[in-house]
Amino acid sequence: MMAHPDDAEIFCGGTLIRLAELGWQVHLATAARGDCGSMDLSREEIARIRYDEGVAAAKSIGGTYHCLGLSDLNVIFDANSNRLVIDLFRQVNPSLVITHPRNDYMLDHEQTHLLARSACFAYSVPNASELPLLAGAVTPYLYYADPLEGCDPYTGQWVEPSVLIDISQQIQAKSDMLACHASQREWLREHHGMDHYIHSMQHHGQIRGKLAGCAYAEAFVQHRGHPYPQDDLLSELLGGIHTTDTGEKA
Ligand SMILES: [Zn+2]
Repeated sequence: MMAHPDDAEIFCGGTLIRLAELGWQVHLATAARGDCGSMDLSREEIARIRYDEGVAAAKSIGGTYHCLGLSDLNVIFDANSNRLVIDLFRQVNPSLVITHPRNDYMLDHEQTHLLARSACFAYSVPNASELPLLAGAVTPYLYYADPLEGCDPYTGQWVEPSVLIDISQQIQAKSDMLACHASQREWLREHHGMDHYIHSMQHHGQIRGKLAGCAYAEAFVQHRGHPYPQDDLLSELLGGIHTTDTGEKA
């Protein structure tokens, strides 16, 4: 559950690919529809294009894309958006959720964090939604992906992951997945002067890979609060690496 089309691909695409390889059913959901991601197209035009890109990216790993239809720069944790996410979770019945960290470079990400966290807690509560409660609905495992560039925006410090996932074998598939978002490669080049949409993602993967002792990695922090599962399922499934394993950190 991420804010914008392409966020999941950037922050946790390699891990999603690995889960799909294990036979997991992968759902990519975004709160916003990406309607500010263009310098020249109208909001409706770019949102349509980005929806198609999200579908294509999800399909490339055998997954499903869901868009809640909120507007870019206007993702707000309120009763309406809370209900939308709880209803989505009610239908998907997630057992493991990845979302943005509490602190990130833009507020759409932080508000999506709140929405995902709220829905994780609420969706298995019978009266939280009008939709039927599916069998097996429980509080899912919850993980936070890296903030943009891996740094907490308030402190400028690197986020210390609770687990690192080796995605060296998946980096090409992750790059192909991100390349489905062709409109953003162009827009970022014009707006931010970033000519390396995919290279930036790969570069960050290398930085996290160095910490993990492999070529490319993705970093996560597991939510450990009550009543979330405490065991590290992602690590158990994918052979997670901990910074204590690499000697980088005590
Ligand atoms: Zn985003």
